[in-house]
Amino acid sequence: MENPQNSTEDRSAHPAPVTWCPSGTPDRPESVVLGVRSGPEGQVVYLETPVPAAEVLGAVPEGIAPTRVLRFASHCVPECANRVGTDCGLIERIRTVPSGPTASATASVPRCHLRPHCTWWHQAGVEACHRCPAVTTLNSPDDELTTLVADPATTPEQLREWITADTPTD
Ligand code: SF4
Repeated sequence: MENPQNSTEDRSAHPAPVTWCPSGTPDRPESVVLGVRSGPEGQVVYLETPVPAAEVLGAVPEGIAPTRVLRFASHCVPECANRVGTDCGLIERIRTVPSGPTASATASVPRCHLRPHCTWWHQAGVEACHRCPAVTTLNSPDDELTTLVADPATTPEQLREWITADTPTD
């Protein structure tokens, strides 16, 4: 994987270091496979080393969206709809949703090759890594909550309202 911190030339060309989106797209030149979606819950199992997306896309059976079986990482780009200033709005929306036991503060974080360059890690630290394996790049339109979380137009306040309204009261 490209490491901009190793290149003096890159540093001068890009004053802010390039960070990587862990919910990226497979079709950019730099795109790599972050992990494989596995098991009944589709949790991501992270690759030890990045594999260029272009090397694996041909192996995904026709008719299956690559993001259904794999998670990709690609550069965070200023034109991303999830950008809020220099931050990622997606991880902030994800953090708004109450976490399960696997995301407790004491749980270990996955081994992940992207961490030194990961936008979410730099922005939200361990909490991002606890939430990350459950993130789907492809969302079911039947799942209203994940659809709301994925929508860049959703604010954390709207999410909190939705969650409160959906939480049964005794
Ligand atoms: S949030 Fe954590 S686990 Fe997910 S890609 Fe970034 S460093 Fe890896």
